[in-house]
Amino acid sequence: MKHTALAFAITALLVGCNTSTNDSQAPTAAEQAYEYLVQLSSTAEGIGARPTGSEAETRAAAWIQDHLAGWGYEVQNQPFTYTKSGASKRSQNLIAELKGQSDKVILIGAHYDSTGDKKGSEGATDNGAGVAALLAVAEALKGQTLPYTVRFAFFGAEENGLNGSRAHATSLDSTAIARLLAMVNYDTIAGGDVVYVHSAHSDVTEYNCAEPGRYSFDPKVRDRLLAISKLTATPLAIHPSYAGYPAGETGSWSDHAPFACLGVPIAYVEATNFTINGADGYDGYSQTTNPALWDCYDDASKSACDRGSETQWGKIWHTQYDRLDTMAELFPGRVEQQLSANTDLMIRFLKEPGL
Ligand SMILES: [Zn+2]
Repeated sequence: MKHTALAFAITALLVGCNTSTNDSQAPTAAEQAYEYLVQLSSTAEGIGARPTGSEAETRAAAWIQDHLAGWGYEVQNQPFTYTKSGASKRSQNLIAELKGQSDKVILIGAHYDSTGDKKGSEGATDNGAGVAALLAVAEALKGQTLPYTVRFAFFGAEENGLNGSRAHATSLDSTAIARLLAMVNYDTIAGGDVVYVHSAHSDVTEYNCAEPGRYSFDPKVRDRLLAISKLTATPLAIHPSYAGYPAGETGSWSDHAPFACLGVPIAYVEATNFTINGADGYDGYSQTTNPALWDCYDDASKSACDRGSETQWGKIWHTQYDRLDTMAELFPGRVEQQLSANTDLMIRFLKEPGL
């Protein structure tokens, strides 16, 4: 019964969304984003899982590069090496810029590798969705002159230690760093129950920066996205405080971290559920209350019926649930709706950054 009610609610949201965005017959950026997500993450219709260091990861890089080049972007393929299980591995970032009125840069990033393929994950929400949104944004904005220069960064090898984002951050000299106005990380922007936006942690020691004196936790990018999101179909949320993490502040576990360490104000958008008492408390690793993703979910305690024996904890990322066919059954319309809203959000932000 609960599921049926949820499906109706989401369908109603989608209808509302479509009527407000379908001003013309051409596919909207949001519709394109979903198409790119299918092509990137569906094994049946596209590339599928993109494990860090795999041939599929390399194919995904070529696929991203081809799209950007096809829209007239000059694409920089930034190779880097990293170590996995003692062996040296290669990956690459794809970087493209849209020149703005100012040469100050808003960097928007998403990692394109995935993990959990052995369990059946196709990396649809983590992080096909972030890549798909940024591609659709790049396509929608091609040829436009926005207030600031936009740098689209598609990072490789995130799941094995933020290797791509670290490589890009390390490649920047002091002039290039001074040009960076903001960084927005799109990682798992769809799938979970709620879409949140975070700023960096107010305690510099959380980020283990090489030069802690540079670190920025300025929340202005988060707050701007939050304000703009109120104009979209899915207003973003701020997570409540939990052990060690003040409300709206995040740790260093995704691609925003190397840029916060450079002193760049960051924002990180992710879909999860911070109201669940997960395996380690209210830390946002449990993404959904949908009982299908729990051995047994207890609504009253917002946790596992038996915390000692639970094995699933409502996680989509890195599991067999992170694929579009399964997501469509479990959460009809959800990925489309969240992806659409976040694509719309980024376009609005880049047109009027308010920074
Ligand atoms: Zn991710």
